[in-house]
Amino acid sequence: MSLFDANTLLQVSAAFHGFMALVWLIMSRVFRIAPTAALLLAAAYFAIIPALLCLDCQAWWPDVLQGWLQKLLSLLGFTLMALGIRRMMRLRMRWLDIGSVAGLATLAMLAGNASGRSAAALAATSAGMGLLTLLAAKDVHTGGRATLTDGVRRFLLLPYLLLAAMLLGRSVSLLWMNEQRPFFVQGDHASAWLAWAYLLLTLAIGIGLVGIVVTRLIDRIRYMTLRDPLTDALNRRALGSELQTLQAQAERGQSHCLVVLDVDHFKRINDSHGHAAGDAALLHLVGVLRANMRDLDRLGRLGGEEFCVLLPHTSLADASRVAQRMCEALRRSPLVWREQPLKLSASFGVAPCQSGDPQGEHSLALADWLVYRAKSEGRDRICVAEPGAALGRVLKP
Ligand code: GH3
Ligand code: MG
Ligand code: MG
Repeated sequence: MSLFDANTLLQVSAAFHGFMALVWLIMSRVFRIAPTAALLLAAAYFAIIPALLCLDCQAWWPDVLQGWLQKLLSLLGFTLMALGIRRMMRLRMRWLDIGSVAGLATLAMLAGNASGRSAAALAATSAGMGLLTLLAAKDVHTGGRATLTDGVRRFLLLPYLLLAAMLLGRSVSLLWMNEQRPFFVQGDHASAWLAWAYLLLTLAIGIGLVGIVVTRLIDRIRYMTLRDPLTDALNRRALGSELQTLQAQAERGQSHCLVVLDVDHFKRINDSHGHAAGDAALLHLVGVLRANMRDLDRLGRLGGEEFCVLLPHTSLADASRVAQRMCEALRRSPLVWREQPLKLSASFGVAPCQSGDPQGEHSLALADWLVYRAKSEGRDRICVAEPGAALGRVLKP
């Protein structure tokens, strides 16, 4: 066994493809991570394994396997790979470009084979694989724009471009020189270099793809630890840390406010229409609140049917206008539940982020107290803190 033995390198490549096929199969079927994309990638790696083994320079494979079937499996593997990557990058599943490259390369390969021009058949296969790799590179480039930095994207693209250049170069050299020799020749240094390059580049592509999925998974887990699962509002912990940031800025004289609100008689909705209606009412409420917020405002769920909206760079007067708008919007837009309108209202407390309160406990307690004051005044209204005083004033609807 030598490091420059093309056969050994092809077998190592096949073993790596087998490992990757299992990894993607487990991701798809066991962990249900990107199931369709992972299944396409597993199928791609499985298809390429026999294709690699059939390239074995010792001709102990049946002729058919060393001929058109080997090339067909290579093209099938690269087609499935391109489709899997497109799906993985969450791009629209358009088939036309990938399908036409795969179809044309297959037809050219079969024609070359049938006319006994094996170099032309090999060139068509190699060109098809190179173009499919380029399409995959384009998808990684486009699909990664939203989630990957430019540097990471360039780094990920490099093995695709090198592999495409290698395959297209091989195709051109076959056509140009009209070579009659097979892809890999035993004991030939050029074949060994080619096998090394294929192994390393597919290794880099495989690791890159797993890296994309794992990074996405970590981002998703991080996101879920900060969000309330029902409403997707920030959970209490995440809201607390956002509030701490505002409180730290309030120490430096910046004016921020917070609004706490509690749905009125929410228990009645659960009791009369069921828990599902209660959940739908919470989702409806969040939709109404979000429609009345700016991008930089933050919505969090304090618990049950109690929410908090953080309003950075907002005066108390402006914050009370925002709360009033939310209160009216909620009153005006009942939840439609089983074709029946269910009236919803909430009581609001508006307080400023005051200095000397690093955790924001006092601001939150004041806003909470104002909510219960609004409740005691008859609900469906807002209660605003008096500047510099513990008490608030109630604004009737
Ligand atoms: P008030 O006007 O005084 O606030 O009355 P209320 O009925 O809104 O308040 P109360 O605290 O008596 O009831 C709140 C109810 O909210 C009780 C609880 O079962 C329900 N609840 C809390 N979280 C959820 C949830 O995620 N989904 C549903 N459907 N109900 C919830
Ligand atoms: Mg309530
Ligand atoms: Mg409550």
